[in-house]
Amino acid sequence: MIAILSGGTGTPKLIQGIKNIHSPSDLNIIVNTVENDYFSGVYVAADIDTVLYTLADIINDETWYGIKGDTFFTNESLEKLDCPELLRIGDQDRATKIQKTILMEKYGLSKAVDIQRKKMGIESKVIPMSDEHSEIIVKTDIGHLKFHEFLIKHQTKPKVFGIEYTDINPSSNIIETIENSEMVIIGPSNPITSILPIVNLEGVEKALKNSYVVAVSPIIGDNPVSGPAGKFMGSMGYEVSSFGVASIYKSFLDKFVIDVVDTKLKNNIENIIEEVLVTNTNMKTISDKEELARILLE
Ligand code: GDP
Repeated sequence: MIAILSGGTGTPKLIQGIKNIHSPSDLNIIVNTVENDYFSGVYVAADIDTVLYTLADIINDETWYGIKGDTFFTNESLEKLDCPELLRIGDQDRATKIQKTILMEKYGLSKAVDIQRKKMGIESKVIPMSDEHSEIIVKTDIGHLKFHEFLIKHQTKPKVFGIEYTDINPSSNIIETIENSEMVIIGPSNPITSILPIVNLEGVEKALKNSYVVAVSPIIGDNPVSGPAGKFMGSMGYEVSSFGVASIYKSFLDKFVIDVVDTKLKNNIENIIEEVLVTNTNMKTISDKEELARILLE
């Protein structure tokens, strides 16, 4: 069994590669939930849906959000009714979110996602990090913003001073999932808002320390490949580099994969992480993704 810790962009790219070269039924994907919230009356678990759509081969892999080729009739109708959506939701994607909202009320998030993944014919397990709701706030120079306000309304432009999210409990089987895995892969996801919320759940860091953990850096050179990870890392006092990511993960990481662009950082990182591997981590094509997956699984 392999456990994968995931957010909603970098790690799903890697999952596209892993699932092509490894048995999908052997994968347990633990997904971040702190960014989940209600929008337009439905529960949006964006990272979970991205992972589901990736595994079902229907992800819009240009935006890493929503379903490829989706239509937006409901969104456009809402605009005409002077009810614009902060988060633009496609029609088929909205159906997934409505289904999840209904199932959740009855069964809770983990079971709802499990029903959905089976319906989509997905063999891998998709495990929400928690069944509880968390509020995530970005502290900025224009005040405390809800995560999606910062991301969408303000386009990640405000200066960031810190990130805060409420403490929640892990979902029932994630510690056991980590402990029973031969290997845990931390994909190239945002360390501050995608991975640390999982690591900070009670018992997870201890379970990781007792497991074989490999991570891929989401930072290449001085910048993330996409998104606000650099801004968030800087606001928490970490250097925006693969070295900075290594210092966040150093207490439990066995092997760290960095990009060829960062070859010069290898020696420094080896002072804090047992093994450092240098390869191409910029996943532009499916063969880039499969090649990185192969290197991780070797
Ligand atoms: P989010 O939930 O949408 O924030 O997505 P994630 O946390 O899963 O991923 C965001 C991170 O993925 C960013 O920090 C990016 O730098 C990183 N990322 C995206 N594409 C790539 C890639 O091809 N290679 C690497 N190394 N990192 C990537």
